[in-house]
Amino acid sequence: MPKHVQDIQKAVDWLLQSQKTVVFTGAGMSTESNIPDFRSKSGWWKQIDPRTVATTEALTENYQLFHAFYTARIQALKEVLPHEGYHVLARWEKRGLIDLIGTQNVDGLHRKAGSDAVEELHGSIHTITCHRCGKKAATSDFTHGQACDTCGGKLRPNVVLFGEMLPQEAWQRTLKAIKTAQLVFVIGTSLDVYPANQLPMMTDGRVVVINKEAHAGYTFDLTIEGKAGELLVHMDAIAQK
Ligand code: NAD
Repeated sequence: MPKHVQDIQKAVDWLLQSQKTVVFTGAGMSTESNIPDFRSKSGWWKQIDPRTVATTEALTENYQLFHAFYTARIQALKEVLPHEGYHVLARWEKRGLIDLIGTQNVDGLHRKAGSDAVEELHGSIHTITCHRCGKKAATSDFTHGQACDTCGGKLRPNVVLFGEMLPQEAWQRTLKAIKTAQLVFVIGTSLDVYPANQLPMMTDGRVVVINKEAHAGYTFDLTIEGKAGELLVHMDAIAQK
């Protein structure tokens, strides 16, 4: 049996044996739904590094660029559907095979696919608040460039910008689950972004990485290189036998 096939079988065996499994996802989980990750060479992110826009400095000092960037992301997401790998994770939750998904993604695709136990560690692009007074606003108020109707402050999506704290409840719930998990799947993340990148190291359980490329400098119990959606579908077929 080729090593790749053996590794996939091993991951499925561990999944079926585990009493508590947590999934930790990043932008690579969504590329097969045509949402570029930070490392993508395509689209308008070729001209602009999102890391220079997804900051509190951009929000306060370069709002026009910040607004254009997030408006484009919100518009692009309207067309997007979760791929089959998302549906596999949702089914695994229903079957009691996974307990929690902690995601760095802000696109809402886990919930759209039907997963309920989801913690959004970097917030959500689908809700809007005033950066000054915290009042909620409609997405269309933001995309139309309006200011807060109460205080005149800048509207923003509820994503965690570089320089901001992670939502503490989401962080604590994910951390607690990962600490007590027997198995953690780490899917589609470069593990570049602190502090979320610390989570896979917080477990005493096994860690299985599913990523297009292996992570230099890390040791995990198993790394399966390939596309998240394709591999999850493959694993699901084996898990059903
Ligand atoms: P990242 O772009 O730094 O890394 C993505 C990783 O996924 C890379 O290692 C890449 O090789 C891998 N990858 C790409 N396509 C894959 C596929 N089909 N299957 C498996 N692996 C694949 O993303 P990150 O680690 O999540 O961190 C960047 C930050 O970007 C996060 O804070 C996140 O909030 C934000 N972000 C979110 C979205 C989203 O919500 N969809 C999109 C872009 C960035």
